[in-house]
Amino acid sequence: MKSCTVLITGASRGIGHAAAIAFASKGYRLVLNCLHSKDMLETFAAELGRDYGVSVLTCCGDIGDYHFVCELFNRIKNFSPGVDVLVNNAGIDYIGLLSDMSLEEWDHVIRTNLTSVFSCCKLAIPYMVSQKQGKIINISSAWGSVGASCEAAYSAAKGGINALTKALAKELAPSNIQVNAIACGVIDTDMNRCFSREERAALSEEIPAGRFGTSEEAAQLILQLAQSPSYLTGQVIGLDGGWI
Ligand code: NAD
Repeated sequence: MKSCTVLITGASRGIGHAAAIAFASKGYRLVLNCLHSKDMLETFAAELGRDYGVSVLTCCGDIGDYHFVCELFNRIKNFSPGVDVLVNNAGIDYIGLLSDMSLEEWDHVIRTNLTSVFSCCKLAIPYMVSQKQGKIINISSAWGSVGASCEAAYSAAKGGINALTKALAKELAPSNIQVNAIACGVIDTDMNRCFSREERAALSEEIPAGRFGTSEEAAQLILQLAQSPSYLTGQVIGLDGGWI
């Protein structure tokens, strides 16, 4: 049986890291990206190869830069015929008043969180269309639908991902390519290391499940979406312990 290739952006830590382990455990070939942590990603790739016997290509660089994404897909051509599953996971937050945000900071948040999704989808789709199958899974946020004070740019980028998911799902359904998003609530990763112990406790109390989600729970849902029925498309699925 043909082994499927999954590209996971932002795979050096957090949700992307956990997703890489989940896909490796099912025998997928992996293409892993992150921004800076080249050595860490290569060590991780070697561990996945050793523990699960899977092939792994690593490629560090800025996923918000379209030219880098072109380079990444050129490298993929020597590794695999194409990408069967695309997990657009890389993301950054920005906390602060919109009025204090510079144009450069706004652009950085939008490029990293949203333009990266455009670029990876654009370059992954032709192979998926030729195969008449493919899965695109976008990692969004609860803030993409309800908005967060002092995270306006991040909320706008994630709201953009939600709309892109729904539109692209319609565009690609005739080609048997499914596009879905996961709107995470609070997941216990480095992205939330800024919270003090008291803030964590207060936030946990607001969440009906009474706790933060884990990267492994997000990874489990990502893998399930990669293996879900083809009739499931265009959905933004909340993973937030009943919070929103
Ligand atoms: P994290 O900070 O632990 O990891 C982020 C990953 O993205 C890292 O591997 C980093 O190298 C990579 N990355 C950042 N900028 C990049 C760039 N320009 N190019 C390539 N890679 C880049 O974050 P996480 O919590 O695992 O978040 C993963 C995704 O989940 C993000 O899209 C985030 O917005 C989303 N999300 C997270 C939470 C949460 O509570 N943790 C909530 C909602 C949504």
